[in-house]
Amino acid sequence: MNRARVAVVTGGNRGIGFEICRQLAGLGMRVVLTARNPDAARERAAALSPTGEVLPFPLDVTSTESVARLAEYVESQLGGADVLVNNAAIFPAEDHAHGSLTLPLGAVRTTFETNVFGPWALTQALVPGMQRRGYGRIVNMSSGLGGMSEMAGGFAGYRLSKAALNALTIILASDLRDGDVLVNALYPGWVQTDMGGPLAPRTPAQGADTAIYLATLPTGGPTGKLFRDREEVPW
Ligand code: NAP
Repeated sequence: MNRARVAVVTGGNRGIGFEICRQLAGLGMRVVLTARNPDAARERAAALSPTGEVLPFPLDVTSTESVARLAEYVESQLGGADVLVNNAAIFPAEDHAHGSLTLPLGAVRTTFETNVFGPWALTQALVPGMQRRGYGRIVNMSSGLGGMSEMAGGFAGYRLSKAALNALTIILASDLRDGDVLVNALYPGWVQTDMGGPLAPRTPAQGADTAIYLATLPTGGPTGKLFRDREEVPW
C-alpha cells in the first residue's frame, strides 16, 4: 500500500459522523466527508482541514444516482475506497409518536431507505473495488435498539431498520469471507447529538471510538460481528 487509505463516511456533516471524519483524518487517512447538503459538506470538511485531508462530496444515501456519482468519484479521482463507514441514519418523529399498531408504514419504508438500503447500496457500489485491491473495512453504525437480545416495544421502524442492518452485516461478511474485506457493526451507545439529544451521557468522540477501531482492523480481524466499546457483543 503506497498511498494513504481512503475512507468514505456517510452523514459526515454532524454528530458522530463528523467526529468519525475527524478521527480518521487524524490517523492520516484521506477522508471523503459526505453530506446531503453540498455546502454543509464543504464547510465541515474545511473545518477539519487542520486535522488532515478531508474531501467534501455530496451524497444522499437514498439516491441511486447520488451513490453512483460518489463511487465514480472515489474510483476515478482517489484510487478507490478502502474504508466505508455507513453512519447516516434517520430516527423519524413518527417512531416516537406511535406504537407498532398505529405507526404509518410509509414512515417505516422511508426509514428503511436511509438506514438499510442506503448502506447496502453503498456497499454494493464500493466493494467491487475493494475486492480488486484486496482490502476493505465496512463499518455499519447500528443501535442497541436493533439488537435481537434486547428487542422490545416502541420505536418499531428504527428498531427494525437496525435489526435489518445487523442481519445485513452478517450476510455481507459471509459473502465476503474469502478475502480481506471485513464487515462489522457497532453500537455507539447513547450519544449527545441531534439524534441522541442533550441528555445523552456520551460525547460524539466516545460514540465514534469503536467505529475507528473497526475501520482500522488488521488483516485476519473479526468480520460479521457486533461491537460495543471495542468488545464483541451478542446480536
Ligand atoms: P444525527 O446527529 O441525527 O446525524 C445523522 C446524519 O445522517 C446527518 O449527517 C444526516 O444528514 C445524515 N443523513 C440522514 N439521512 C441521510 C441521507 N438520506 N443521506 C445522507 N445522509 C443522511 O445522528 P447521530 O446521533 O450522529 O447518529 C449517527 C449514527 O449513529 C446513526 O446511524 C444512528 O442511528 C446511530 N446511533 C446514534 C445514537 C445516539 O445516541 N446518537 C445511538 C445509537 C445509534 P443531514 O444533516 O442532511 O440531515
